[in-house]
This record gives sequence, C-alpha cells and structure tokens, in this order.
Amino acid sequence: MSGKADPRAGEGTTSRTRLDRGRGALGPALELVHTGRAPTRAVLTAELGVTRATAGAVAAELEALGLIRVDARPGAAAGSQGRPSHRLSVAEDGPVALAAQIHADGFRAALVGLGGRIVATAPGCEVVDADPAKVLGSVVEAGAELLRQTGRRCVGAGLAVPSAVAEPEGLALNPLHLAWPAGAPVREIFAQQVRAAGIEGPAFAANDVNLAALAEHRHGAGRGARDLLCVATGHRGVGGALVLDGRLHTGSSGLALEVGHLAVNPEGRPCHCGSRGCLDVETDPLAFLTAAGREPGPEVSLLQQSYDLIREQYADPAVRTATETLIDRLGRGLAGLVNILNPDRIILGGLHRALLDADPERLRAVVAGRSLWGQSGGVPILPCGLDHNSLVGAAELAWQPVLDDPLGVPA
Ligand SMILES: [Zn+2]
Repeated sequence: MSGKADPRAGEGTTSRTRLDRGRGALGPALELVHTGRAPTRAVLTAELGVTRATAGAVAAELEALGLIRVDARPGAAAGSQGRPSHRLSVAEDGPVALAAQIHADGFRAALVGLGGRIVATAPGCEVVDADPAKVLGSVVEAGAELLRQTGRRCVGAGLAVPSAVAEPEGLALNPLHLAWPAGAPVREIFAQQVRAAGIEGPAFAANDVNLAALAEHRHGAGRGARDLLCVATGHRGVGGALVLDGRLHTGSSGLALEVGHLAVNPEGRPCHCGSRGCLDVETDPLAFLTAAGREPGPEVSLLQQSYDLIREQYADPAVRTATETLIDRLGRGLAGLVNILNPDRIILGGLHRALLDADPERLRAVVAGRSLWGQSGGVPILPCGLDHNSLVGAAELAWQPVLDDPLGVPA
C-alpha cells in the first residue's frame, strides 16, 4: 500500500461522501470488471448509472483493495470516437481462489484470479481413491503448495466433482466413475481439508458441468446469452447445465439438468439409471471408442484417446462413422432439450465439443430437424471457449462472496 493513497483514509470529505454513495456499487462494479464488461471507467460509469465522480471513487476503492488496476493515464480505446478514458483491468498480482477438480483419472488444482485467469496449476494423476478424503486431501495439498510458491492471498476454495451435488448438504449423489460411496458429503470433507491445510476462507463444491457453464457464461462462449444451455462430457458420462439471467438453474435441491439420462437410442445399451440408451452411455468417450471399434488403452484418459482418434484418424471410415453416429445421438438429445428449455445458445464441452468441431453442419441439421421450431429459428451451437472451465467455475464459487461484498476481501 506504500505510496498509494487509500481513499478510505485521507482524501477529504468530498471523496468519502462520493464513496458512501457508491458503496452499494462496489460489488456490481467489480463484477463488471471481472467479466470484462467494463474495460474503461467511462463504460463503468455508464453501466452503473452513476456520476463520473462516483464511478471514479468506486474504481479507486477497488484498486486500493488490490482487486483491480486503474490505468493512471487515460487513453482512447482502439477505434473509439469518444473522449479518452482510464482503462480498467483486474489486478495482475491480486488475490486468488483455490480451485480443485476431481475427475475419473485424477485431479487438478489451480489458483484462479479475477477475470477467470488461471495463475498457476498443478495436475495430479492417480487412481482416485474410494475414500474421498484421500484424494481431496491430495488436491488441497497441491493447491496449498501453489499458494506457498506464489505467496498470493486466498479468498477461499471451490471444488468441481463429476457428480450431481445435492443441496443444501453438499452430497455427491452419483460419483459413479470415482468409486466413491453415493451420498459422500464432499463439501464438508473438502472444507475440512482446506482448513487443515491452513487455508483461510469459505469452501464450496458443485457439479463440474454446472461450474463449466457458469465459467463460460462469465468469461467464455456463453457471454451475453440469456438462456444458456451447456452439455458436455467429462472423462466419463454426460452432464448438462442451464444458466438463466446469469444464475445457474440448479432446481430445488441442486439436481436439475441431469441431461445424461435423456434416452436417445431405443435399442441402446442399458444405463446405470435403469433406463436404456441414455445420452450418458451413448455419447460419452467410452461409447465413442467402442463405436469406432477401438479397445480403450490405459495410457491416457478415455477423453484424450477420443480427441486423438478424431484429430488423427478421421480419414478412417470406422472413426468417421462412429463420429457421425454419436453426432446423430447427441443431436437427438439436444433437440429434446431445445423443445423443453428454449435456450438462446447451446455450448458444448468435452467430447461433444470435438463432435461439433468435426462436423458442425451435421449436428446443427439434426438438432434443427428434430426440434419443433428449429426449422425457422435455429439455436446457435458453439464450442466451449475456456481451457479448464470447470476449474474456473469452481473458483467463481469462491469469488462470489467477494463479488457480493468487495470490502470483505482478506487483507
Ligand atoms: Zn441413464
């Protein structure tokens, strides 16, 4: 803080009065900078609907809290006709959230700053232990090591798991591919490990595809969508999420959008849910490798093997046919969802993103042909845009209290 004026301390009454007026705007202002919607102080002023003086005091306060950076010299934005304005950006050396993700083949820890920026990351591959406390202990330890190495302040921790997470208890209901007991209290276990590692701040846990959708809505391919539908594979299985007006639609107890159990193939294989031909078992990486006649190897994840197959062997008729088969099944599922939810954008992640990239026209045609109003409308279908979007989303959970009240950021 040395050499920098603290607007709470000594700039006189006028500035303090302006800030009092703008206090309620601190959270909205931080969110605007965080999501890239206020690149300059002029845009911030307009978006907040306050006076220039108030917006200036708000920006200065967020800068004093170490959250954003206000460019000292106003500059004209490229191509803009308006008067020059101070550029706003998230603080490069500001605090971070500890983000953790568990998937069928291991885990990943990361530190994520404002703006969804991954500051540091540490992958860990291990057979995920049947005791959630063991793997959660490992991932938290990896995150704690990143915090020690970087010396960053930490606002809290978020965890992404490949399971529906029941609220309000934070129970992982169906961690099928992890061999965890159904109903494991993952949020409480994660919170205990975070506290045991000496990390301050609250701890959160949620489903990985929900978190991916949240991150994409704030920082990626979902920006600006009002009714955003996200469908994605993890390393195994299929998940879905819906972001309505900027908020995750999680249903009454956190379990909405279990799109994996939409039936897309009446003659399909039996699903662990008791039904047959579900999206979950018909369009995930294992289904793809099987359809292509490939024996899954143990070297890398099934998801990576699927990516490699599409990228390197698409000329092989068996691979191409498998791709088309999965696109048709996925398209059938998406059409059903479009009919029910009427989204204004669909984003696809994991293997589904690779299927879209392989043949976007085919997928769009299947969806349009089977959705009731698809012929006239046509919902945009886009690939997810962020690397590690579930991790970034997990960090969003930990950032939310600071976004709601920036004055509460740890000093
Ligand atoms: Zn099922």
